[in-house]
Amino acid sequence: MSAVLQPGSTLGVMGGGQLGRMFIHAAQRMGYFTAVLDPDADSPAGRVSHHHIRADYLDEAGLARLVECSDAVTTEFENVPAQALEWLARSRPVSPDAQAVAIAQDRAREKAHFVRCGVACAPYAVIETAEQLAAIADDLLPGILKTARLGYDGKGQERVSTRTELAAAWERQSRVPCVLEKLLPLAAECSVVVARGHDGAMVHLPVQRNLHRAGILAVTEVYANNVPDAQASQAIASAKAIAEGLGYVGVLCVEFFLLADGALVVNEIAPRPHNSGHWSIEGSDVSQFELQVRTLARLPLAAPRQHSPAVMLNLQGDLWFAGGTERTPPWDAVLALPGTHLHLYGKISARAGRKMGHLTVTGETVAGVRAVALQAAALLGIEAF
Ligand code: ATP
Ligand code: MG
Repeated sequence: MSAVLQPGSTLGVMGGGQLGRMFIHAAQRMGYFTAVLDPDADSPAGRVSHHHIRADYLDEAGLARLVECSDAVTTEFENVPAQALEWLARSRPVSPDAQAVAIAQDRAREKAHFVRCGVACAPYAVIETAEQLAAIADDLLPGILKTARLGYDGKGQERVSTRTELAAAWERQSRVPCVLEKLLPLAAECSVVVARGHDGAMVHLPVQRNLHRAGILAVTEVYANNVPDAQASQAIASAKAIAEGLGYVGVLCVEFFLLADGALVVNEIAPRPHNSGHWSIEGSDVSQFELQVRTLARLPLAAPRQHSPAVMLNLQGDLWFAGGTERTPPWDAVLALPGTHLHLYGKISARAGRKMGHLTVTGETVAGVRAVALQAAALLGIEAF
């Protein structure tokens, strides 16, 4: 078992998006040097890292440079090729490992893992062939056809009510491997961030209640009783079982559906910090990004303590176009509200649906935090929740 990487070491990350950027902020605060591999010259993480290797994820020369300057490597990018992580792992500690990332990248393998761990998920079927399409059970309809790989923020998904619609949707996806999931009556959605160390120690953040709009996370609320106690305990136990079953090392987010009848089913996992955990930067004494630093550097995992109720609003590119013309959202008015914490990811251009940043609101009471978050939402043009 290799040793702790003390501050002063260099932590590498595959991917240069906002998750990498916030990982780098946490790592640098703790005295680490950082390296990012991402092909984009303007990537949010590349711009703040000590080293930025501009290369494709499978470019061996680029990977070799990452190995040269990093003492350990993690990932922030959902679709980083597993082969790249395997390649890196020959010479450096890599967490999470290629196998866990490969499972999380493939909805069919992911669901098989849930079944193995005894955690309930939505009824589903894998569709890879015309025969499998023809054999779909009627009770999976209406359902959602999801590509097995490369989906995010609701992309690569289509709701279908009939077999004809299903067949047409699969054609539109060019007949790539998909899963068809039964459309469930959701009462709410929630997620749990767990961190598991190389020694198997596990800690977690409190259950996060998530509101999605058009398949994209819009609002996360974290405070006592955001989800009934029984389901919250079940979600935490399930998230830990899923991490344990993977022999996972690193930060893992598990998304759940709460159904109208009170049942809890797992939706999917992300092998990295998650948008729904961003509130922890200000609302918890240890953030999900510090947990990622700690797991990668093999530092002890102290249990995080939430010290403030928190509401997080995602800031999508649409806010830059309110009223039809391009504008700067009214940050000054938003920041005049107490307990608002603005995060912008340094993305050059805003587009509808693009995650440009987030706003976390903290404060003394749940009612106060919610009231400020609603005021901020109104100022920004985000629909009330
Ligand atoms: P992300 O990676 O951003 O979380 P994604 O593209 O991987 O999103 P999912 O998490 O699979 O997509 O689905 C996005 C949203 O669509 C869910 O959060 C939920 O609101 C809705 N949804 C997905 N599957 C179902 C289902 N089986 N029944 C009802 N609603 C669903
Ligand atoms: Mg999701």
